[in-house]
Amino acid sequence: MSHNEVVVVAGGGMAGMVASLMLARSGRRVRLVERDTVASGESEVEALLGRRPGVAQYHQPHAFMPRAFTLLRDHLPDVLDNLLQHGAKEIDLAPSTGERAAGDEDLIFLGARRALIEWALRRAVHDEPNIDLFPARVTGLRFDDGSPARVRGLSTDRGAVEGTLVIDAMGRTTLTPRWLAAHGIDLPTETSDVGVVYYSRHYRLRDGVSLPASPSPFGPRVDHGYASAATFIGDSRTYCIVVMVPTWDSELKLMRRGAAFEAFCAAAPALAPLVDAERAEPITDVLPMGALQTVWNGFDRLPLHRLVALGDSYCHTDPTFALGISNAFIQGTALCEAIAAHPDAEVAAAYYAQVGEELRERFEFARDVSAARAERMRGALIEISRTGSYPLYSLMATLSCAGLDPQIHRVAYRRHGFLDRLARFDGDEALQLKVEELFGQVLARMRDALRLDRTHLVALIENAQARQ
Ligand SMILES: Cc1cc2nc3c(=O)[nH]c(=O)nc-3n(C[C@H](O)[C@H](O)[C@H](O)COP(=O)(O)OP(=O)(O)OC[C@H]3O[C@@H](n4cnc5c(N)ncnc54)[C@H](O)[C@@H]3O)c2cc1C
Repeated sequence: MSHNEVVVVAGGGMAGMVASLMLARSGRRVRLVERDTVASGESEVEALLGRRPGVAQYHQPHAFMPRAFTLLRDHLPDVLDNLLQHGAKEIDLAPSTGERAAGDEDLIFLGARRALIEWALRRAVHDEPNIDLFPARVTGLRFDDGSPARVRGLSTDRGAVEGTLVIDAMGRTTLTPRWLAAHGIDLPTETSDVGVVYYSRHYRLRDGVSLPASPSPFGPRVDHGYASAATFIGDSRTYCIVVMVPTWDSELKLMRRGAAFEAFCAAAPALAPLVDAERAEPITDVLPMGALQTVWNGFDRLPLHRLVALGDSYCHTDPTFALGISNAFIQGTALCEAIAAHPDAEVAAAYYAQVGEELRERFEFARDVSAARAERMRGALIEISRTGSYPLYSLMATLSCAGLDPQIHRVAYRRHGFLDRLARFDGDEALQLKVEELFGQVLARMRDALRLDRTHLVALIENAQARQ
């Protein structure tokens, strides 16, 4: 592709902005089509409070995992600097005891709210002379006549946009599979329900107060079996608590109300200090998010000339795996490399060959963990062991034993942070045996730990809400 030809990017969310920036900075001309109106000169405060109808999860917490962090640091360092100057926080995930080891410099989690991350990317996009912003809603694909199908651009509510390559970065709700089907091209698609609803609430620590110490460097977590909760550290002394309840449990959906949500948190010793009004104040309402699905749109099985899918339009999974931001960076980098190294006709296939295998293993892992977790939430007796539910075991065992051994710690957080392929643990028998032995002790402790009986919890949150 010559440097004068235009790459059309449909969707200016996480993947669209990252790819546009990387392409523009490698000398490509980019036309970025986005339907949400986002003012170019907005302050970060306006972005943090603003609306973003095109991204339903905009105000949900986003874990910025080590893989995404390393790619941001290496490819868009000015965006990282801007984030750090505006309150984002680098959190060291390496073991806190013992010597530093090679690779520990990559074990960094970036604490930042999604709205701040988007704001920093948007600032860079607006300042980039090679990116031409085209505010419009994409309404379809445009094809050249003839066979095989060749995409030549997009139809939008403001007219046609054409380019040498079209990138679909329209997120979870992309209509590209439907538009392709209307053109006689059926993408193989795999879909399953994640099985949980997210209830999130952001808080800010009061002056002089710090977050309580927690065994997990991400922040306190709670697992009652039938419901669980996690903390996400954000920017500017903020954090978010997410309570996850099964989609079918209508009683626990009361968690969408502030008083019920806080009663649930206050009843768990690990979370109670985080909702203590003397230590922190809520800065949002409880933000629900349901209809969560694990989806693989098989663009890679059918690489189309001049059309490439990035981000959620290609694959999205259970959000607890926090795969999305890393994917945006992995795929943006791979796309730039494919364009630089291959003739136009081979770009799509080269890109999928580079990203497909790793993404597929994460997709299958997330899908299998979600399925096992949903059964466990329903009360099924799921054996969490190497020979029982291996996906659930490999997730829970590695993370819950991390604090007991620096080697396990590194393997667990490199796995969870997408720095290593799954085989690093799955293929290491000696390490698995070590984890298995330790996990036996951890499980016994978990069984003894205070767990709220579900009936008791329902009464607790109903009473709290009734008192409001
Ligand atoms: C509840 C929840 C929690 C999550 N938590 C995490 C997390 O902790 N860590 C993590 O890494 N990931 C997380 N994710 C995943 C992450 O949000 C996504 O993977 C990521 O946003 C995908 O980026 P994207 O660019 O593909 O899509 P999006 O960011 O959704 O962007 C799509 C863009 O396309 C635009 N668009 C859509 N249709 C059109 C159209 N027809 N015309 C023009 N523009 C259009 C939209 O306005 C939007 O700007 C979470 C997801 C959910 C649902």
